Amino acid sequence: MIKKFIDKLLGKPSAKAAKANPLGKRVEVQVAEHGIDPSLLDERAVKVVQTLTDAGFEAYIVGGAVRDLLLGMRPKDFDVATNATPEQVKGLFRRAFIIGRRFRIVHVVYGRGREHEVIEVSTFRALLVNESADQVSGNEKTSKAELAGKSHVVDAEGRVLRDNVWGPQIEDAARRDYTVNALYYDPQRQLVVDYHGGLADAKKKVLRMIGDPDTRYREDPVRIIRAVRFAAKLGFDVEPKTRAPIKVCAALLANVPASRLFDEMIKLLQTGHSLASLAELKKQGLVRGVFPILDAMLDEKGDLASGPAGEFVRMAFEDTDRRVREGRGVSPSFMLACMLWREVLDRWTRIREGGEPTVPALSMAIDEVFDARIGDISGRGKLATDMREIWMMQPRF
Ligand code: ATP
Ligand code: MG
Repeated sequence: MIKKFIDKLLGKPSAKAAKANPLGKRVEVQVAEHGIDPSLLDERAVKVVQTLTDAGFEAYIVGGAVRDLLLGMRPKDFDVATNATPEQVKGLFRRAFIIGRRFRIVHVVYGRGREHEVIEVSTFRALLVNESADQVSGNEKTSKAELAGKSHVVDAEGRVLRDNVWGPQIEDAARRDYTVNALYYDPQRQLVVDYHGGLADAKKKVLRMIGDPDTRYREDPVRIIRAVRFAAKLGFDVEPKTRAPIKVCAALLANVPASRLFDEMIKLLQTGHSLASLAELKKQGLVRGVFPILDAMLDEKGDLASGPAGEFVRMAFEDTDRRVREGRGVSPSFMLACMLWREVLDRWTRIREGGEPTVPALSMAIDEVFDARIGDISGRGKLATDMREIWMMQPRF
């Protein structure tokens, strides 16, 4: 009794309540409060939601698109989340493809050629069983039973390797990374569904991890890079508890497949805020030792080199940022070619000094740089060809 009273006085029960309810609480927010401008919506995404709801399923626009809409920005792509399974989704659209293994989703495709547009539809996913067992046992057995035998597969470090267990929306929300990325928007009712206070965080411009940040970085260390990306792109502050484990957990990035890290680096540098992203990486102590390509390009302190070489990269970054802001296309191969040019040039010079003729020397230098900084990244044939082409043009200038 007395203990309870003291706990109450010290505010312990609320902390306890939060712990007992990591799933959050469903809050529905009307347009008067969230203020999303429907003219920023993509017609096709709305159509996908409508087709699904007409068929009796739940469906929402979700993730980064809702976050960007809330901030008054036009999203670059739209994701939809639903309680329909991939097979059920596929059955409702003329051109829909189930893709992915670790994470099965459906691509609903509209239009053709360069004009085509893909809406990604994912099925609400259940929390990892060990995370959610206490809270949800009993109430969502049906959806989980449906997928019996396809449970999560987790490796020794706690990383999720396979992940196709469907669950209710509340669990889907809890599995997402940051509160501002876990908002659902119903375009028909103009309703935002928020389980983790994402709307308030968006207003305060705070990036906050859902759940225990340390655990969540261990599950997927790439969330660290995502934090940097969102902070730079949105101008958000990383909330202190979300920031705290980053330094220690950064070592886990070494276990992430090189190709996934490479993709994340490209995304980071093509947010339209590449220089801000570098600054944010530096702030989090990640600017060196994570991405081999950045290591090639930055000095010991993690700054762009002074002098012409650094200036050249800075111009390439500024140009890319400008193009993104103006809604023009950007090319990863051009950006990467600029970033690695100094190293190609150094090696080229050295090989020529060894007596090799100009053009073969350049070709050898390029091979060396690919080996050292990009490695064997399958499926990047086009990118590598484009970079090589840009570099091989240099002797003509
Ligand atoms: P962007 O605007 O760059 O596309 P985004 O938030 O939409 O940002 P995506 O990678 O497209 O990012 O992912 C869509 C959504 O899926 C995210 O908003 C988030 O809810 C969820 N998500 C993506 N990656 C992760 C992850 N590694 N861990 C947890 N949730 C994730
Ligand atoms: Mg997205």
